Amino acid sequence: TMITNHMPTSELQALDCAHHMHPFSNQHELSERGARIITRAKGVTLTDSDGNEILDAMAGLWCVNIGYGRDELADVAARQMRELPYYNTFFMTTHVPAIALSAKLAELAPGDLNHVFFAGSGSEANDTNIRMVRHYWSAKGKPNKSVIISRKNAYHGSTLGGASLGGMVPMHQQGGLPIPDVYHIGQPNWWTEGGDMSPNEFGLSRAQGLEHAILELGEDRVAAFIAEPIQGAGGVILPPESYFPEIQRICDKYDILLIADEVICGFGRTGNWFGSQTVGWTPHIMTIAKGLSSGYAPIGGSIVCDEVANVVGSTEFNHGYTYSGHPVASAVALENLRIMEEENVIGHVQDVAGPHLKQKWEALSDHPLVGEAKIVGMMGSIALTPDKSTRAPFAATAGTVGLICREFCFANNLVMRHVGDRMIIAPPLVIQPDEIDVLVNRARRALDQTL
Ligand code: PLP
Repeated sequence: TMITNHMPTSELQALDCAHHMHPFSNQHELSERGARIITRAKGVTLTDSDGNEILDAMAGLWCVNIGYGRDELADVAARQMRELPYYNTFFMTTHVPAIALSAKLAELAPGDLNHVFFAGSGSEANDTNIRMVRHYWSAKGKPNKSVIISRKNAYHGSTLGGASLGGMVPMHQQGGLPIPDVYHIGQPNWWTEGGDMSPNEFGLSRAQGLEHAILELGEDRVAAFIAEPIQGAGGVILPPESYFPEIQRICDKYDILLIADEVICGFGRTGNWFGSQTVGWTPHIMTIAKGLSSGYAPIGGSIVCDEVANVVGSTEFNHGYTYSGHPVASAVALENLRIMEEENVIGHVQDVAGPHLKQKWEALSDHPLVGEAKIVGMMGSIALTPDKSTRAPFAATAGTVGLICREFCFANNLVMRHVGDRMIIAPPLVIQPDEIDVLVNRARRALDQTL
């Protein structure tokens, strides 16, 4: 029998858990409860197999920036598939979609970030970055400069390389991670770790943790520092203002490459084209994916500065993916960027959706469960706490408060994620003020029910 949307939900769920292994899921729990089946989507709204309409305050996985159901992207994909569905960019060949997309990205990226190495995802792009920065220093006669410094609780992907750069302990505990020569320093999460310090004192001290690490490891061993401008999957952690200027000073001083992982923050999420612009930071390499194509096609990459591209390009770089610069994905990404410019999506975030969401979201901090409610552009978090004055966490036995709140969100037809005791949102950038009101009202109802 054909498996279609018309089958009963329970039958689809049974087939799903019998055959489909889900990422980041407990398959047994899934088989008891059944996965929610999403059948279609338009704008900011998902429809499930029972006909519920759900406001997607996570834009899928932080990626559907221009919203669901854009025919322009479907048309471009179909056209490109008919003309040239596939060709590779290995061995002295290329094609127009990859040329056009790389030129467009060079135009959008700040400074001399003028060169793009394409991958199929953010994880792959970070694997590329590991190999690229190590190859760069080798080519410059410094093969010992191989250590990459990252941060605890960072998320940089799920491949061996990406998950090693990431600082997620549960990921390291499976599969023998991290790979050698990756070192993690503390994150600038003032809410949970700032103690009695002011946010700026704390931001400064966490940035100085980078200098301590460099001195401990030896300057001649450190290749690069990687960070998300705003930590996403770790719980939307906004760094104190003091943090990134100090990081920049330290990297400049010790001749260390800076990698900004823009997989979430890139393409308007923080109110600028790139999150590093929002936090005032100048990287040598940016990791991109997600919003590059608004999730309509899998594509990622590294945008690389003149100096690094020049050195890496001086010998053969023994690296690449079958789908590097995939023509259909590239054409879709290019069309996505065209729409973002034509519709001034970043202006909408800066002037319309951003200020409206900020006002409504921060007002949630009057809720008895909410310690802080923070937002930048279209990514926000709230810290749940039993005691606002001490910023106390919930006891471990109640460590499911975030999960409970997320379930209530779901029951109220709102997709909001939780990371421990933090609730996070990253809605499509094109969300309208009336939809923001619905989002925040549903979030407040879920908080009330969690109380
Ligand atoms: N880097 C960051 C900052 C991310 O948030 C993610 C995914 O959530 C990745 C990398 C990995 O991207 P992908 O899932 O496309 O491999």
